[in-house]
Amino acid sequence: MTTVAVLGGGIGGLAASYYLCKSTQVTKVIVLESSSRFGGWLSSTRRSDGAVFEHGPRGIRPAGAVGRNTLNMVDDLGLGGEILPVDYSHVASKNRYVYLNKQLHRMPSGISGLLRTVPPFSRPLLLNVAKEILVRKGKEDDESIHSFVSRRLGKELADIAVDSLCRGVFAGDCRKLSVRSCFPVLFNAEQRRGSLTLGMLLGSGPTPALPPGPLAQRSQTESWAQWSLRSGMQSFPESLSEFLQQSGKVQLHRDAGVQHITHAASGWKIELEDGVISADHIISAMPAKGNFSYMNTEENS
Ligand SMILES: Cc1cc2nc3c(=O)[nH]c(=O)nc-3n(C[C@H](O)[C@H](O)[C@H](O)COP(=O)(O)OP(=O)(O)OC[C@H]3O[C@@H](n4cnc5c(N)ncnc54)[C@H](O)[C@@H]3O)c2cc1C
Repeated sequence: MTTVAVLGGGIGGLAASYYLCKSTQVTKVIVLESSSRFGGWLSSTRRSDGAVFEHGPRGIRPAGAVGRNTLNMVDDLGLGGEILPVDYSHVASKNRYVYLNKQLHRMPSGISGLLRTVPPFSRPLLLNVAKEILVRKGKEDDESIHSFVSRRLGKELADIAVDSLCRGVFAGDCRKLSVRSCFPVLFNAEQRRGSLTLGMLLGSGPTPALPPGPLAQRSQTESWAQWSLRSGMQSFPESLSEFLQQSGKVQLHRDAGVQHITHAASGWKIELEDGVISADHIISAMPAKGNFSYMNTEENS
């Protein structure tokens, strides 16, 4: 009998529970979510006229092993018919704008965009890319995305393009986000090839062999840049919760905020407001800043 407690019922916690549910080594999964709904940042307002507003993510990239894996899960959940793809030829994929100094700037795209000076940049970006090959490999185990891009491609590109990219993708600050966690492909390209440009051309290392399911294959054939769901991204955690509920192996608890975690000889004790839960293993999918304060550590006990 192996019990795993999953702390946090956002998409991370639900996805972890989905895989635990399929594992023959796990007999019971307990999901503990502090709020009254599952899904975390995946939250959509659906209006009666059919309009959908996203409060968090609005598009997921299908590229790479992670992208294929997510689409395989969407297939398995029976959400394939709900998919709304946006392909690379779509105007929304081609045109990216950044609002800077009270002006809207269209970001350079394609080879021609790299060859000429496109405001707000002060010189053709191809020069940054060419110089990047000569930049020495970093020595740190990790660093912020801003520091990484400044070092390799120049501060201007980090300040303008990467700063806004990170605000758009993670709603986060590129000066605080880890490059190793957020952009492992770039980090590995430097580690393996000594350069992002060479990494992009020659590959940045082995990726998990993951056969694409029907949806992932469709995404490749139709050149999807991103995809969303017809009734909003919230449909994803809704379907996942339903799948977990029906599995008979997973207990889903809402309004069950984790207050304290203690490592006991026989596993873990998780204190909630109204009781204690024991588990052999825990997977924390709570916001990272919370994890430390819940745990017993030398400084914290
Ligand atoms: C505005 C915005 C836009 C984004 N756009 C995109 C996008 O377009 N595409 C994309 O791929 N990504 C996007 N992202 C990133 C993406 O939304 C996140 O990476 C993802 O939702 C994180 O999921 P998670 O489960 O790790 O965390 P969360 O969604 O934060 O879930 C954590 C869960 O833990 C629960 N919790 C917290 N404390 C406790 C506790 N003490 N006990 C129990 N439970 C607790 C919370 O209630 C929550 O449900 C966006 C993010 C934001 C904020």
